[in-house]
Amino acid sequence: MTTGTTMIPHSRPAIAQDEIDAVTDVLQSGRLAQGAVVERFERGLAAYLGVAGGVAVNSGTMALEVALRVLGIGPGDEVILPSYVCSAPWQAVQRVGAHARLVDIEPDTFQIDTGLARAAITSKTRAIIVPHLFGLPADLTALERLGVPLIEDCAQTLGALEQGRPVGSAGVLTGCSFYANKLLCAGEGGMVLSNDSVLLERARALREYDGAPALNPLASNLKMSDMQAAVGVAQLARLPELIARRVCLARQYHEALAGAAVTLPAVPSGRSHVYYRFVVRLSRIRSASDELSQCIGRLERQGMQCRKPVFRSLHRYLGLEGFSGSEAAEDTALSVPLYPALADDEAAQICLAMRNEWRRE
Ligand SMILES: *Cc1c(COP(=O)(O)O)cnc(C)c1O
Repeated sequence: MTTGTTMIPHSRPAIAQDEIDAVTDVLQSGRLAQGAVVERFERGLAAYLGVAGGVAVNSGTMALEVALRVLGIGPGDEVILPSYVCSAPWQAVQRVGAHARLVDIEPDTFQIDTGLARAAITSKTRAIIVPHLFGLPADLTALERLGVPLIEDCAQTLGALEQGRPVGSAGVLTGCSFYANKLLCAGEGGMVLSNDSVLLERARALREYDGAPALNPLASNLKMSDMQAAVGVAQLARLPELIARRVCLARQYHEALAGAAVTLPAVPSGRSHVYYRFVVRLSRIRSASDELSQCIGRLERQGMQCRKPVFRSLHRYLGLEGFSGSEAAEDTALSVPLYPALADDEAAQICLAMRNEWRRE
């Protein structure tokens, strides 16, 4: 069936002439390191999210680590985070020496469960890391009512709204990632954003040590280069258009799969979805994880590469029990290719393959 067809990759960056020109300009300027373009990227993304400022760093993982450090979180403190997420938030919590308290997710939205987060709060809790997974906001309004500082993890979600406000504007701090496969990519890179100028100043002091008034043992070199920021600035200018293309593709997939034997992404009222990932759920009929890998194989033979959207839940790495929502997601969630660089005929091929796979008997 795939003879003569090339495999549609699970993800692919949307690089246009604007990005190429922007990097060329930086290369020709002779100023490659952190400078004016990084500052422009910081101001631009802060304005996009509606917050006071941002501090660009070298990865999303470091953005989360810096966010924890500027809040003074360290040994003896606890940070709540969901189990069903990539390992980055857990790594950040480990690196500052705090204890990660894992909680389960809401089974239908994949987002952190507010009730379970409330139950996990102790006298040592200093923050909740709130990832907005796959392009859908977590329930920020409910989480805010818990009265614990929120660190939003916007690595997978920018431009989505929760009760009318953009994700990334509600937390005391927000971390972003610009890794090559993210919604807004720069190859590698991250940013810490906040409305609090004191916290932003502390983040800046951790990012670099040159020119500091005194030696700071916690400072490091976490800088982003102007070459990466140039890609970021160009992507940011196109972000509304890139997101509109994602939403348009998602609509096509929803239509193609209407009535199909698979659960489509849920969008609770009061939230908008920007479809960083289009994640469907298989019904749990046969031996779950086998069924998932067989399904990935069948779709691959139809010319499209699918993935488990989270490689392994944190509680499984750590051998913890009692995370049925995360386990169901891990056993049944499948991410199909959806990104602005998909051509119309590729999207049509994907719709056809998915209809074949999930046709009702
Ligand atoms: C990618 C990602 C990160 C980490 O970003 P890096 O830039 O790869 O370090 C953090 N959190 C989430 C939810 C991510 O998807």
